[in-house]
Amino acid sequence: MSKLPNVTTSIFTIMSKMAVEYNAINLSQGFPNFPVDERLTDIVSRLAKENVHQYTPMAGYPPLMNKIAKLTQDSYNRIINPDTELLVTAGATQGIFTTILALVKENDEVIILDPSYDSYESPVLLCKAKPVRVALNDDYTPNWERIEKACSAKTRMMIINNPHNPTGKILTENDFIQLKNLLEKYPDIIILSDEVYEYITFEEKHISAHTKSFLLDRCVTVSSFGKSFHITGWKIGYTIAPEYLMKEIKKVHQFLVFSVNSISQFAISEYLDVVNVNLLGKFYQEKRDYFQKLLQNSRFELKPCEGTYFQVASYAAISDEDDVTFCKNLIINHGVAAIPISTFYSDHKDQKLIRFCFAKDDFTLESAAKKICQI
Ligand code: PMP
Ligand code: GLN
Repeated sequence: MSKLPNVTTSIFTIMSKMAVEYNAINLSQGFPNFPVDERLTDIVSRLAKENVHQYTPMAGYPPLMNKIAKLTQDSYNRIINPDTELLVTAGATQGIFTTILALVKENDEVIILDPSYDSYESPVLLCKAKPVRVALNDDYTPNWERIEKACSAKTRMMIINNPHNPTGKILTENDFIQLKNLLEKYPDIIILSDEVYEYITFEEKHISAHTKSFLLDRCVTVSSFGKSFHITGWKIGYTIAPEYLMKEIKKVHQFLVFSVNSISQFAISEYLDVVNVNLLGKFYQEKRDYFQKLLQNSRFELKPCEGTYFQVASYAAISDEDDVTFCKNLIINHGVAAIPISTFYSDHKDQKLIRFCFAKDDFTLESAAKKICQI
């Protein structure tokens, strides 16, 4: 008997595989295709010949942990104790999984906002807990009334993803006021804040859970160096939580992976001395603007994008096909891969929307846009 009977191959795997099979331009799965910063690759090349190849301490390589603490202070003015409140993880994915496994018990309820990224629900189900999916508003803002109605004494956790994949939406000060009001009524709910795109916001600044004092003792945040440093394949990130939660998270971590691969920890530790994460927003804003300009004469209607490296587009003026079929045909007939948005909804709500990843070099964006504009 399957423990996850409804889980199938992820849409990111399906679309990336099809893109290879049909030699299509892959704007589906979210990963950059431009070269990594040479300062980082130089560090790795040098380190590879040094003594960096054995286990690091379980929670992370201490110099890296100190630098993550400094980054958190510089970015959000939050002071953390790296010994007790920080864990280096094998990507944000492991941070999310480990946190849920450690903190959610059988019959607990976990609020997940629809549309949502795909790695939240399965760990909840593996805990024999209940995912409670609550739809965002049509403009992808949280519907706080609906969220409150979904809360009960059984609610253990609410997961927020800010900036939001796939919609590119970011939370506002007002959202945090609403969240604060909600949490005052439900003192047992903890927040899991997935902030992997924290440095990729555009006109409006990212508001991190780290900056909200009412969250500090009841929130777990996950971050990803994969997103921030264009190295998704390295699978490295980190999780920050108050000590009483982190103690439990570390118990699971030590048996899930024990420690994260050493050389990437050494390398990122050095790289953090020279890289400026605050340049990332401008870098991707230029990509977003360029991609939007390239598509302005297409028949797709582009939705607002406040953060992340994803552009949502409506093809309602082009086809009546459901979005999964549309994406498959987009690959087969037009040579461009994208992600159907219905796959982020528990009820697979088809709204004729697809997601393009614009974390690509200009040539790729231009080549894709040329094909897209012919549709
Ligand atoms: N959360 C969100 C919202 C994501 O888009 C992703 C995928 N990039 C992850 C978590 C996982 O991040 P990582 O690759 O660091 O595991
Ligand atoms: N986060 C990536 C995306 O949204 C996918 C990562 C994965 O394939 N697991 O495209």
